[in-house]
Amino acid sequence: MRYRGRFAPSPTGPLHAGSLVAALASWLDARAHGGDWLVRIEDVDEPRCRAGAAELILGQLAACGMQPDEPVWWQSQRGDAYRAALQALVASGRAYPCSCTRSEIDAVWAERGVRHQPDAERIYPGTCRGGLHGKPARAMRLRAEGTVHWHDRRLGPQVQDVAREVGDFVLQRAGGLWAYQLAVVVDDAAQGITHVVRGEDLADNTARQILLQRALGLATPVYLHTPLVLAADGRKLSKQNGARALDLAAPVAALQEAAQVLALPRIEAQSPADWLAAAVPAWAGIITGFANGSTP
Ligand SMILES: [Zn+2]
Repeated sequence: MRYRGRFAPSPTGPLHAGSLVAALASWLDARAHGGDWLVRIEDVDEPRCRAGAAELILGQLAACGMQPDEPVWWQSQRGDAYRAALQALVASGRAYPCSCTRSEIDAVWAERGVRHQPDAERIYPGTCRGGLHGKPARAMRLRAEGTVHWHDRRLGPQVQDVAREVGDFVLQRAGGLWAYQLAVVVDDAAQGITHVVRGEDLADNTARQILLQRALGLATPVYLHTPLVLAADGRKLSKQNGARALDLAAPVAALQEAAQVLALPRIEAQSPADWLAAAVPAWAGIITGFANGSTP
């Protein structure tokens, strides 16, 4: 099967040093496998998207010498496909409506003596599994069953008991917005993605996505999660803790900085195209190391 990879940024702002690492790794991995590299704009969380950010990201990728092999996909145009997938999950009994507000979920846990930090993810206690009992449907959830074992090319064997550690998770949010998990799974399959290369902050989502793939009868891609760029406060670099937009006047320097995170050697080149051409064989050496158990 021909390798098909993708970079799938959320247009919440321009690329920064951290997001360039994932873009570069996905591009290099596709080229090292002689495959296709696609770009998908994950603008499904509309309230968080910023006008013009997607165009800015595409311009930054182009300035760094990374051009998608096919037209860019936009998740905001994919609602019909997500709706069809949700309907199939409802028909097969895997998805169900949920009426719970966040405070109702917290109240269930409080009764059991569990308190959550305000920004912590809540494990869904399964309140609406047995029906809504006359309450209005707010969200749609997947009935999460079973422990998922999966393999990451860099991190090695992974396991998550989704039912216990996450609970039945949201497919369509209150207000109608599509959840990231459903959109990613539907689009990866529709685009024929064979290999997912993305930042390690998303590794924790993989088991949920594999459960969804199985529920929809879709193939599971091969996964590789790349190291994160950390901010001065030790957390993942993001716009919230001071990440600056890439300096497009110096794309080779930006690529070199991203390459360091991926443990690539220093590459001397005048243009992004020359730099990338030299980086492909270096990346092929890195991924051989992953297969032999070395993790940067
Ligand atoms: Zn509920």
